[in-house]
Amino acid sequence: MRMAEVEDHDTPRACAACGRPLPPAKLSAKGLPIGRPRTRCEECAHPKAARQRRSLDASGPCRHAAEATIEALRAAGHLVPADSSRVAGLLAAATAVDSDPLNAALLREHRQAEVALRLSGASVQEIDAYSSLIARLDQSGGDS
Ligand SMILES: [Zn+2]
Repeated sequence: MRMAEVEDHDTPRACAACGRPLPPAKLSAKGLPIGRPRTRCEECAHPKAARQRRSLDASGPCRHAAEATIEALRAAGHLVPADSSRVAGLLAAATAVDSDPLNAALLREHRQAEVALRLSGASVQEIDAYSSLIARLDQSGGDS
């Protein structure tokens, strides 16, 4: 006798909140679904965790800009192994800004991290030029 078709595990289900397809249920060794069937995708079920995960994804515009800056400094020979922590600091700050672009404290931290990195291999003239540029930006209230 042919076994009745068990649960339609393959039927694509959609998230009740956003409508995106849900991943197939995990199956036990006997082929039965484990746990309660999901009704919402990971993102909608745990929005906070998903946001944190996204912020670690390193995909925002600020992070890209930071990577480009680091690449340029490295190409110009300005970075040495001793700068590693400053590199990491700038990347972390840029990632934080991307996840919360309107946070003034994060923006300030990001700028400080960038200045610290830029000055790591710079000449005195470059430091002066950069410092005065930053001072002008601060006076005009610009958050570039
Ligand atoms: Zn969803």
